[in-house]
Amino acid sequence: MKRAVFPGSFDPFTIGHYDIVCRGLKLFDEIIIGVGCNIKKNSLYTVNQRVEQIQRVFSHEPRVKVATYDNLTIDFASEQKAGFILRGARSSTDFEYERNLADINRCLSGIETVIICSTPQYSMVSSSMVRELLHYGKDISEFLPK
Ligand code: ADP
Repeated sequence: MKRAVFPGSFDPFTIGHYDIVCRGLKLFDEIIIGVGCNIKKNSLYTVNQRVEQIQRVFSHEPRVKVATYDNLTIDFASEQKAGFILRGARSSTDFEYERNLADINRCLSGIETVIICSTPQYSMVSSSMVRELLHYGKDISEFLPK
């Protein structure tokens, strides 16, 4: 059983995140989406709202589970008995950041990170952009999963 955690803030969960999970399901038997409770980040949605949104998106996909965590990603991954961390990268800047995180996490725990490059049409989609559009009352439906 190949199990991965997909950790993030998901404030909110975008079509870019959705695409990474769907593509990750071709590599892993099970993906646990970990919604991080980061008190340092000012969030738009509560952790519970984010969990509900993601559960609704994957209600017909039993291989995707949703959990919250407030510890280190590597500790969350081992609690979930996951051998892999799944992440996405939209740009070379994202990639450098993700590679650094992946190196630290592998050094500390031996857990491998799999970084999936975004599908080109979603590479400009970010939760922060969606939050800003929402703030100005714009329609954000095309940036969210159905
Ligand atoms: P974090 O605060 O941990 O970066 P995010 O919710 O912003 O959490 O992102 C979680 C993961 O999803 C990160 O690996 C990020 O690079 C990736 N990601 C975010 N948006 C996209 C996208 N449009 N396409 C592919 N990956 C994405």
